[in-house]
Amino acid sequence: MPIRAQESPVVGRLAPSPTGAQHIGNARTYLLAWQCIRSRGGKLVLRMEDIDSPRIKPGAAQQAIDDLSWLGLDWDEGPDVGGPHAPYVQTQRTDLYRSALKQLQTAEQVYPCTCTRTDVAAAASAPHFGQEGPRYPGTCSYRRASDAEGLLELGVAFAWRFRTSSFRHEFHDLVAGPQSCDVHSQLGDFVVYKSDGSPAYQLAVVVDDIAMGVNEVLRGDDLLPSAFRQLELYRFFRAHPPAFAHVPLVIGEDGRRLAKRHGDTRISLLRETQVPAAILVGWLAWSAGLRQTSEPLMPRDLLADFTLDKLPREPFVFTAEMLRELLSHRLQAVPSPRGRGG
Ligand code: GLU
Ligand code: ZN
Repeated sequence: MPIRAQESPVVGRLAPSPTGAQHIGNARTYLLAWQCIRSRGGKLVLRMEDIDSPRIKPGAAQQAIDDLSWLGLDWDEGPDVGGPHAPYVQTQRTDLYRSALKQLQTAEQVYPCTCTRTDVAAAASAPHFGQEGPRYPGTCSYRRASDAEGLLELGVAFAWRFRTSSFRHEFHDLVAGPQSCDVHSQLGDFVVYKSDGSPAYQLAVVVDDIAMGVNEVLRGDDLLPSAFRQLELYRFFRAHPPAFAHVPLVIGEDGRRLAKRHGDTRISLLRETQVPAAILVGWLAWSAGLRQTSEPLMPRDLLADFTLDKLPREPFVFTAEMLRELLSHRLQAVPSPRGRGG
């Protein structure tokens, strides 16, 4: 699709969370995100989403960068190459999230919340929406931002929760199709700042995507419910939301999203055992319906005829046999025991 001069260029991002090693399922999503932007001559930002402090693994951020480069992906801005929207590491951007919280507080759009996860789960009556846990049932007795003062005096820890609206958000997902949600009744109020004083994913990602000019977001479809929460935030900040493309995940033979229990599917394992990147990329392209066979190729070889239309709408089932096949192309022995950074 040619980009007309008066339109702003398409800007996407790769946003790894260094909470562990990146696996084959992540590789597939990054490959698609890169294709989607690069096939139209757009720009890519690499952003390290490391605010989930207790779960961040040392070395995992560098490993993610090494994995992505090894896959043959590149970016125009990022922690390693700099750029006009630096820093590109979320833990270095907390001033921005704080000032966004200030705006929300001033507008009475957030209230302090002392509910624990168990309070929320126990009081839940609404059905689950996706895999993100129950709707917040509104158990909290605090309603105004100024209620925080009393809690601070008492030394009680609290989160900040966004007061959702019953506005019906509708959008056309570039992969998942037409979507609609009333966030208040289907998902409930959501946390934008956690009780440990750190920003929540929903707020950080919206503040960053606005600041970095991201206008297209391609990611796993487990984040589809989050898109609606994020649309609430875009509405508050009066910012134009990005186009969304939520792609099916890679799952194991048990139907659950790819994880350690499905074997060692780390990209870094393939990289370190010298499986050629083209083997993995060719296989990923086949798994995503971009090629009829899994012949080896690199991301740039897919650009000419890339389209999201070829993407299957169902999750891809990754089998133990497929992992064996991929690893059979290694030149180095598989290190044992496993577990480094896994
Ligand atoms: N950092 C998130 C993850 O790795 C992605 C968030 C997003 O794409 O909005 O799951
Ligand atoms: Zn509460």
